[in-house]
Amino acid sequence: MCGIVGFIGKIPCLPIIINGLKRLEYRGYDSAGVAILNGKNEILIKKAKGKIIEVEKILDESLDELKVGIGHTRWATHGVPSTVNAHPHLSANAKIALVHNGIIENYSALKEYLLRKGFTFQSQTDTEVFTNLVESNFHGNLEEAVIKSLQEVVGTFGIAVICSLDPQKIVVARRGSPIVLGVSGQGTFVASDPSAIVAHTRDVVYLKDNEIAVLTENSVEVKNINSEPVTHDILRIEMTLEAIEKGGFNHFMKKEIFEQ
Ligand code: GLU
Repeated sequence: MCGIVGFIGKIPCLPIIINGLKRLEYRGYDSAGVAILNGKNEILIKKAKGKIIEVEKILDESLDELKVGIGHTRWATHGVPSTVNAHPHLSANAKIALVHNGIIENYSALKEYLLRKGFTFQSQTDTEVFTNLVESNFHGNLEEAVIKSLQEVVGTFGIAVICSLDPQKIVVARRGSPIVLGVSGQGTFVASDPSAIVAHTRDVVYLKDNEIAVLTENSVEVKNINSEPVTHDILRIEMTLEAIEKGGFNHFMKKEIFEQ
């Protein structure tokens, strides 16, 4: 289980995502990547095997001013560590990008179902199946497609999803894998660990299992898996960065054991 960082707001997202992913580096990972909306109905993807520095080497100026994106560091469970298996994964029509921590247990049955519907796959991952499932359930509204897909997947996940056909939002969800949302005057953040976003905001919401959230540049809307609204208080993180990184534990290993 590895790292997620995303941002939607008024300032460029790329430095926020890259620096956030670097904060999560202590967890170890085998590949990394980012997906950014370019405002022209396209999603730009940069990913690489190895360290985040390998992703930084392939970034270009076209991404610099863009304000909606998601990033990931992967610890492979399904499919070898490689660039093609790295996240974010693009759906078959290239309109949806998704990052995922965790494991989709029924991915092979879902993959057969999607293959029969004519979907094609590039990678060996369970995550690409999830991504195409969201595409198959998409009829114009991203959170509706994600909610429908959550009802069909078995397993554990924290996810963040963007869609170039419904571009003013990031949709996130969790079941068994931590997701924290951050709010500030500059935009809205998502991460798998608060240490990835605390440089930008200390005002956060922790998502609970089977909740989804729709993030826009100035709002967070949380719902349960039945689309019913859920209210959350915004919490203020008062801990130092070092204490956040260790989550109140003396060692990172203990923190990870308790997260699992
Ligand atoms: N199961 C997914 C994969 O193998 C996600 C792994 C992770 O949590 O990093 O790509």
